[in-house]
Amino acid sequence: MSDARTPLIAGNWKMNFDHLQAIAFVQKLAWSLRDARHDFDDVEVAVFPPFTDLRSVQTLVQADKLELKYGGQDVSTHVSGAFTGEISATFLKKLDAEYVIVGHSERRYRHVESDETIAAKAKAARDGGIVPLICVGETAKDLERHEPSAVPANQLRGALIDFKPGDEFVVAYEPVWAIGAGSPATPEQAQNVASVLREVVRQAVGDETAAKTRILYGGSVKSDNIVGFMKCPDVDGVLVGGASLDVDEFSAIARYK
Ligand code: PGA
Repeated sequence: MSDARTPLIAGNWKMNFDHLQAIAFVQKLAWSLRDARHDFDDVEVAVFPPFTDLRSVQTLVQADKLELKYGGQDVSTHVSGAFTGEISATFLKKLDAEYVIVGHSERRYRHVESDETIAAKAKAARDGGIVPLICVGETAKDLERHEPSAVPANQLRGALIDFKPGDEFVVAYEPVWAIGAGSPATPEQAQNVASVLREVVRQAVGDETAAKTRILYGGSVKSDNIVGFMKCPDVDGVLVGGASLDVDEFSAIARYK
């Protein structure tokens, strides 16, 4: 991690917590973080609740002036119209969401989202004033045929097709074989792929933007393994799934220093 980039600790709740549970969780998290805030002033913490929770989270964060960011877990490629079930970046922006996850492996594989769809979602987020958090990562099967960085690098190249120097986005390297598996990649594996991904970013949007862009690691991150990832020069934070649902554990991850 470089001092030039603010670390981002992101919790992807997936389809967990209704809005009442979200309120209770965010209150507890904010208290836990506030107590220790002076030790990690320079760390950004964000949660990604289900859409139905976002308004409650916004109300709480704004009323209590909590130092917590939030975002959506997916976004439509469209702004508005006849798209049943979809949510646009404009709607997320209205709720003061900062980020939106695009290309999570659960969307790529369960919802068969292509690199083109993910590129369109990342663009729609950017155009709507939301920072896309673009997930990439290889499956165990991919590893039988390719170098570890080959698939994630290709996915990222595809996602950045409409991006230009100065655009803000976050990349999350999440090896699919490590998600929910209980056994993460090693920091060395994460660093090797993250450095290739930074080079992909450099080729797509230039040196300056590449130096500023945060690359996260995701896949079985816990409080007892985060430090190894945060020591990697090209890893600037983590995207946490399961462990982000336990308030003490997620708070401990955010206070990794
Ligand atoms: P995990 O999930 O932390 O439960 O492995 C990570 C993710 O899906 O983003």
